[in-house]
Amino acid sequence: MAPQQDTLCAPFPPLVSRIAQEAVVVDDQILKIDHFLNHRIDPSLMQAIGAELATRLDRFCPDLIVTAEASGIPPALAAALSAQLPLVYAKKYDPDVPTPALTRRVPSPTRGRETQLVITARFLPAGARVAIVDDFLANGRTALALAEMIREARATVVVAAFVVEKLFQKGREPLLELGIPVVALAQIERFVAGQPILAGWPLGS
Ligand code: 5GP
Repeated sequence: MAPQQDTLCAPFPPLVSRIAQEAVVVDDQILKIDHFLNHRIDPSLMQAIGAELATRLDRFCPDLIVTAEASGIPPALAAALSAQLPLVYAKKYDPDVPTPALTRRVPSPTRGRETQLVITARFLPAGARVAIVDDFLANGRTALALAEMIREARATVVVAAFVVEKLFQKGREPLLELGIPVVALAQIERFVAGQPILAGWPLGS
């Protein structure tokens, strides 16, 4: 039976309550939670995020986690430790990556320019069941680029999991079209007056 999409995206209270109370919104587009997620890191919250991601990934039986540097690494590593899975991260252009290598160019929503993702081909074994893990799902370009590289290596993307999904940017649509289920621990419906409206989470809690 196909897993229920809403159980994959139920709000994770320890994370969502902190976003509701502490997040800063920049330019009505970017959620800044860099005091606990992706600059300064709260280790106990990251450990809890990793355990929750591992629980939600379990039904897809992944044997490898793939993410992109830099801000994907902490949640992906926390999930990999909980699930006891190996982890590979795409480097953002490194001329010393051993060849043959898989590469894709992606726009960076936070930096406003393109970056190049690179993974050494031998770290993506053919036939692997891969879970993509990243901090944010916005337009989905990063996750799609990773999915393309994984498919080019003849491995299978079984699920894509995100700490935060911004629903209004619709990045999940191309993933679902490829048959890739989406996991999210917090979903932002929209921003109103500089505040995030969180799916399944009453305002002010
Ligand atoms: P996408 O490729 O889905 O458009 O964007 C995903 C990447 O952009 C994530 O890996 C994340 O690093 C960055 N990103 C997108 N939106 C946000 C945001 O609202 N806040 C932060 N901190 N990073 C974001």
